[in-house]
Amino acid sequence: MTGYSQSREALDMDVTKVGRPVSLVRKPAVYVQRRVAVLLAFLFVSATLATGLLVYFNSSQAEGTSKKTLDLTVSTPLQETGVGGVVPQETGVGGGGVVPQETGVGGGGVVLQETGVGAVVVPQDTGVGGGVVPQETGVGGGGVVLQETGVGGVVLQETGVGGVVLQETGVGGVVLQETGVGGGVVLQETGVGGVVLQETGVGGVVLQETGVGDGVVLQETGVGGVVLQETGVGGVVLQETGVGGVVLQETGVGGVVPQETGVGGVVPQETGVGGVVVPQETGVGGVVPQETGVGGVVLQETGVGGVVVPQETGVGDGVVLQETGVGGVVVLQEKGVGGVVVPQETGVGGVVVPPSREEVNIRLPRALKPLHYMVKLQPFINGNFSIQGFVQVRMVALQATSNLTLHIADIITKNDTIKLVPVDDPEGPGIGITQNLYDNERQFYIALLETELVEGKQYVLSMQFTGYLNDQLKGFYRSTYKDQDGNDRWIAVSQFEPTDARRAFPCFDEPSMKAEFEIYLARESSMNAISNMPKVESFPVEGQEGWMWDHFNTSVPMSTYLVAFVVSDFVHMDSQDNDHVLFRVWSRESAIDQASYALQTGPEVLTFFENYFSIPFPLPKQDMIAIPDFSAGAMENWGLITYRETDMLLNPVASGASSMEFVTVVVAHELAHQWFGNLVTPKWWTDIWLNEGFATYVGTLGVNHIGPTWQSMEQFVSGDLQDVLALDCLQSSHPISVPVGHPDEINQIFDSISYSKGASIIRMMSNFLTEATFRKGLTNYLSNLAYGNAEQDDLWQFLSEAGHEEATLPADLTVKMVMDTWTLQMGYPVVKVVRNGTLATLTQERFLLIKNENWTDSHDYKWWIPLTYTTQENPNFESTPPDVWMKDSESQIMISSLPSQEHWVIFNVQETGFYRVNYDDDNWNLLIKQLNTNHTLIHVVNRAQIIDDALDLAQAGQLSYNTALNVNVYLRNETEYVPWESALSNLEYLEMMFTRSAGYGALKSYLLAILTPLYDSVGFEDNLNDPLLEQYKRVEALSWACNLDYQDCVHNSVSLFQQWMDNPANRSIISPNLMTTVCCTAIAAGGEEEWNFAWNQYLTSNVGAEKNKLLVALGCSREIWILSRYLDMSFTEDSGIRKQDAHTVFGSVARNDVGRDLAWNYVREEWEKISNYFGSFTTLGDLVKTVAYEFNTKQEKYELELFREEHAGELETAKRAVDQAIERTTNNIAWMENYYDVIVLWLHDNGYHKMIKHF
Ligand SMILES: [Zn+2]
Repeated sequence: MTGYSQSREALDMDVTKVGRPVSLVRKPAVYVQRRVAVLLAFLFVSATLATGLLVYFNSSQAEGTSKKTLDLTVSTPLQETGVGGVVPQETGVGGGGVVPQETGVGGGGVVLQETGVGAVVVPQDTGVGGGVVPQETGVGGGGVVLQETGVGGVVLQETGVGGVVLQETGVGGVVLQETGVGGGVVLQETGVGGVVLQETGVGGVVLQETGVGDGVVLQETGVGGVVLQETGVGGVVLQETGVGGVVLQETGVGGVVPQETGVGGVVPQETGVGGVVVPQETGVGGVVPQETGVGGVVLQETGVGGVVVPQETGVGDGVVLQETGVGGVVVLQEKGVGGVVVPQETGVGGVVVPPSREEVNIRLPRALKPLHYMVKLQPFINGNFSIQGFVQVRMVALQATSNLTLHIADIITKNDTIKLVPVDDPEGPGIGITQNLYDNERQFYIALLETELVEGKQYVLSMQFTGYLNDQLKGFYRSTYKDQDGNDRWIAVSQFEPTDARRAFPCFDEPSMKAEFEIYLARESSMNAISNMPKVESFPVEGQEGWMWDHFNTSVPMSTYLVAFVVSDFVHMDSQDNDHVLFRVWSRESAIDQASYALQTGPEVLTFFENYFSIPFPLPKQDMIAIPDFSAGAMENWGLITYRETDMLLNPVASGASSMEFVTVVVAHELAHQWFGNLVTPKWWTDIWLNEGFATYVGTLGVNHIGPTWQSMEQFVSGDLQDVLALDCLQSSHPISVPVGHPDEINQIFDSISYSKGASIIRMMSNFLTEATFRKGLTNYLSNLAYGNAEQDDLWQFLSEAGHEEATLPADLTVKMVMDTWTLQMGYPVVKVVRNGTLATLTQERFLLIKNENWTDSHDYKWWIPLTYTTQENPNFESTPPDVWMKDSESQIMISSLPSQEHWVIFNVQETGFYRVNYDDDNWNLLIKQLNTNHTLIHVVNRAQIIDDALDLAQAGQLSYNTALNVNVYLRNETEYVPWESALSNLEYLEMMFTRSAGYGALKSYLLAILTPLYDSVGFEDNLNDPLLEQYKRVEALSWACNLDYQDCVHNSVSLFQQWMDNPANRSIISPNLMTTVCCTAIAAGGEEEWNFAWNQYLTSNVGAEKNKLLVALGCSREIWILSRYLDMSFTEDSGIRKQDAHTVFGSVARNDVGRDLAWNYVREEWEKISNYFGSFTTLGDLVKTVAYEFNTKQEKYELELFREEHAGELETAKRAVDQAIERTTNNIAWMENYYDVIVLWLHDNGYHKMIKHF
């Protein structure tokens, strides 16, 4: 996987929901008209009902019940107490008849009344009785119920008693749905009847259970909706197009109401809209109220359609759930909008196992090993977002067991379809299941078996299930985009890593449980489906016109997290550049021309890796697809790589130079995973760094192959390596190899420690073993473990063998001895070099940016360090195998035979080792002198190293800032990009800390003094044909110069932006490289007009990279009210800002000196709104960290602490982030106290304070 950016924070921020389209919740006017017709028809029917009637029922959907005549008898009058008849409101013991409201003992009957007028059913409105009546008062009772105006309904049914109930307030029963908005959902229990019905435009889903069935459901107009009926006895259902009505029935007897168009349901609704259902019994039964804890419950909320409110707590948004012991289906409704139902986590039916309070082992038992899955999925993308699924998995019993355990989440199983049979007796009775259990905490489905499975034998488990295309960007989810005509289009796409395959189908969802996968996807015939393997055939879905099944070839053995599906209306382009792999790139139609670069680069990188690893790509095809809503940057699914659009699509005119390199980096990273991760997979997530570290490092080799002039290997140092050195020097860091269990923990280690530190120590290995030896070991590792799993020890073993064979590793040293010190310990060392004549004393110590006095970690941090060095007398920066090993048992060693002390030495040649180097003052001064006389004598990577080490050592208090700032003075002569990148990313900290202080003017003078020569050399005019790094230097120089108010830069930006405003359609006026800087500068200098112009350009842009740049620039305004409006928009649905981009907008405002306090106030004032908007507190925590990034005063620290205190107990997952923000602020305050005066003095002594006027 590629994270959206280096940091885990950014990754989190992108896991956000997709907004619900308006079309889901609007009901067409024609629908209401039809409902009125139903009502009128009802009035006719209800008059008949009151005296009993025969109803002819004709359903094409309920087999075996068509043309059936049913006798519907209703005990009439109503009754106070007693039996039978209808009972009105009161206390109601009544059996038979109708049962009223109250106590719920009541049996039969049907309706109750509001008005007390009796009759069996009385429609509310008219008071004429007959039909069913809606309930008013809330205690719920029997009868049928229906809903009040304007509200949705939900229903569900209960055991044993049948009937239907529905409720307004309190207790549920059956429900039905109604006007206005959302559909409802219904679902039915086993064995017992129930009823449901559904509604509105979007269709809900209904489904019926097995057994005795009866309930019924039906569906309404338009789209989705489904009704279905079950076997057995009972009820009936029927469906009407366009009109709906509902009926349902008890077994054998019940009345039924058929429905034909225009004839209306049985019960009308108040407002003339909803149809209603009337249950009917013969004499007995009738309706059952809720009562006694047996019943399922559902109930309705007011106001909006289709909301379900959980009964128990009265809080939630919409969960309904079933009591235990009965059965369980769970439904829950999305908040406030209605229309769709979402299955609850615990949707398995059967007993729900209560979560334990202790630490649990979340690993699957090892008794069963999956061999082959057949998965069939039919996602209703343009319907109600349900997924009809079937899975069949062949397994071998590795040991005898009487329970079958696998993963499941957000899925409703159809328990009566679950079958387990021995492979050698597929037609036999199978293995009985005595109980279905669900372990919510571990996301386990557990079947307790009647008889033990026999060790060594194979079995086949199969089941049907219902899933759901969620909007959470994980599992099998839905994504939306607008086509060229502005219409909403929907697609379904999967994202399973690390633990979300279980949301798409029941499976053994652990990386070592490899198996073959045979996938079938059903799609509407206008769409297409792709998966890991090529399609082998397509054929119609039986009984569903317009639907096709696509059947895909059986895969190679692989982990569940690499399975992938996409169903879309996307288009593709093909390449045969690789002679045995068909390469295809996919995107929405209007963006396909932006996929050309990926199509050209992909096969080239794939071929490069085949040669590099000496192992051919094993699949016949490789698809790459750009997804409009995607949580990570990209995902390496085997044979079907999914990307965020900006990570795969490239518009040469609008995207800019860095986008081209970025796309190359991501493509190379994902293709590297096809070997590292897909072919050989970590046994468990603890070793995920093997995947991500290798994909990052080897991916860089692929980028270097594509762009040999891009200095990718050098950029790796100033980017990945130095970035993660800056993180790994905190006490809160963690080892690369870290035990993880719960999915939250697993997700957390997809961070830059795994990616960048992993890649950095792999680079170190490649250098101490030598490249050729390293490759030999890798190829052996991959080919020996192909289609299997590995731990880091396996890699160490193959590399040691290669190192000893090639004699690049001392015979008494193993890779494991060295590398365990780098992967099992967090942090890294600083090596201090103190010279004395030709001798040098070297010590190693863990490098910590801040030493916390309360630190209790007593671990003795020591590493095996491959030491390399070169000297002024004989400078050689090309040799990177170690000159000396410093052992993990040594805190000090001596090196002799160095040149005399008048000449410098440099350790860590090309910064191939993952450590910092500090020197005595004399050596530092020799280095400063060399840099100022002829810096090119020192290798460009070591110049970057010296800058980075000096500034970080100074920040940690291990080197004086005078020395560090003196090192950087030479930069005015530096023309290479890589040392500049190191310098600017470090100097940014000084700039941030000074920005609101009196010394800022002097610091600006210093920064501009070293920057202006670079600015002048690159010039303001951009040229997309310049070498890539020349373009990068220009981007950096202009960005800094404009930010420091360098007038030439500001004037040019404002003027260029004005030209664009004069020619809005001409998108080539501002080079994409400079888009952020120019727009940010012009918007900061301008007002509302400039802002609005840029906003409109954002809205109309079709290029993701350009949109992102404009979003950032819009946060540069200096008008408080504009920033305030912008913040509001970023947390509002349908404002034009995607939810995934809200953090970008917030960050832009928070980084703006004018906007930061505003952003901080916004978080504090609106934290509830923000967490509701994202559905979690994670994002809120990230926002606090973002806004507090530059905090460096005691007042700000106090405000943070107050915030934490005020919301103690509410912050949940945001707490850690708030703690981190407080820690960072504490450190910034300490930094200001320790170094601000020192630096101001240095600036003064070096004349920078006088130069303010000059600039
Ligand atoms: Zn990756």
